[in-house]
Amino acid sequence: MSGLPLPVIDSDNAEFWAACKRHELVLQRCGQCKTLRHPPRPMCHVCNSMTSEWVKSNGRGRIYSYVITVQPIHPGLVGKVPLATVRVQLEEGVLFTSNVVGCAPDEIRIDMPVEVVFEDVTQEITLPKFRPSRQVEG
Ligand SMILES: [Zn+2]
Repeated sequence: MSGLPLPVIDSDNAEFWAACKRHELVLQRCGQCKTLRHPPRPMCHVCNSMTSEWVKSNGRGRIYSYVITVQPIHPGLVGKVPLATVRVQLEEGVLFTSNVVGCAPDEIRIDMPVEVVFEDVTQEITLPKFRPSRQVEG
């Protein structure tokens, strides 16, 4: 248990969280204009279509931005700071908010390649997080 508030599953995001439970990262895609979006929501921000489908992400991206929390500003953060919260730009183009694991917060750099990993937190919630990518850049 993370001690932090957990995501609330609703009809818009249920498939996203079910996929995380299977350790798969999926993205919502507009059924009309095919624009990818995240977080899941009922309507396309480009064409206003209410139809959507789910596509699997390869889980790879780069650090777009980050912030490091050093003060435990929430009781759930006691003993967990410094904590890096990152915006990852997935290879599919979508920005994704998460945390980085597997490296110290001061090792995080803009444009650093990362890949998704999954942290099973409760019976229902598995959180997608990111670690430095093991892939050779080229
Ligand atoms: Zn659309």
